[in-house]
Amino acid sequence: MGRRKLTKKRIKLITSTIVFVVALLTLLVNGKSISKYIEQGLSNDSDVSIQKNAGIEAELQGNDILKIYFFDVGQADSELIISNNKAMLIDAGNNEDGAFLVNEIKRLGISKLDYVVGTHPHEDHIGGLDNIISSFEIGQIYMPKVQTNTKTFEDVLDAISNKNLKITSPEKGFKFDLGTSQCEIMQCGIENSEDDLNLSSIVIRVVFGEQSYIFMGDSEKENEEARSWPKTNVLKVGHHGSDTSSSENFINQIKPEIAIIEVGKDNKYKHPKQVTLDILNKIGATIFRTDLNGTILLESDGIKNRVTVEK
Ligand SMILES: [Zn+2]
Repeated sequence: MGRRKLTKKRIKLITSTIVFVVALLTLLVNGKSISKYIEQGLSNDSDVSIQKNAGIEAELQGNDILKIYFFDVGQADSELIISNNKAMLIDAGNNEDGAFLVNEIKRLGISKLDYVVGTHPHEDHIGGLDNIISSFEIGQIYMPKVQTNTKTFEDVLDAISNKNLKITSPEKGFKFDLGTSQCEIMQCGIENSEDDLNLSSIVIRVVFGEQSYIFMGDSEKENEEARSWPKTNVLKVGHHGSDTSSSENFINQIKPEIAIIEVGKDNKYKHPKQVTLDILNKIGATIFRTDLNGTILLESDGIKNRVTVEK
């Protein structure tokens, strides 16, 4: 009898231990749901999955991993930053990239974009924004004050008003948090932005732990000369690697370890220019390009960066 009682007690103990462990595991998995979804997203669709490591291998520590996707949208820009379950999209490619981007972002398990930034109203940056705005729950929309009369720009304004949202033009120096990352508006247009829309580019710098990232939009040398710049680990190169951006003086201030160029294969502008590549190489930056590498995924634990590319 005594023996039987003991066995029953043991079974009870084992059962309650199992229940506790399962509950704990569920909690842990839910706590990092975004990264779990991303891993699933990456393995679900082999056509666009990012598999090959591009040479910057790092063992990342802990659960709080910053992820930045530099989508391959040809001769255009689109970057998605995910930090502790919050997401910010900077630019949305050309008009024809809208559906692709909506699909890619949904595949990552994201239903809300906390921040959407249209760096400046050229088609290769805001083209797909109307699709994005009508497909996701949207928090803040940041765009510069300038206007243009293209159909693309009108489409974006219509999508914004259809959802009763509004555009905010943030001031230089404005700071906000994205999950566990800190963002700062480094620039939101300079003099003559109305005449040359590239000059109106919103420039955002993101800090995560010891690592920093800067997204230049299509900023030109005039933007670079308009202020001083802090050293930043990762540079989204301005204006697709044009020689009208990325002056040696600017690059010497940023001192990027990693430089990422969003650029289309055989584009008519012949971006990126050799002089830009030379300046980046001279400072020792490792260069990744969407025309050669496809979509680029950068992950960080706040101490190190790991880059994985599609091809
Ligand atoms: Zn552009």
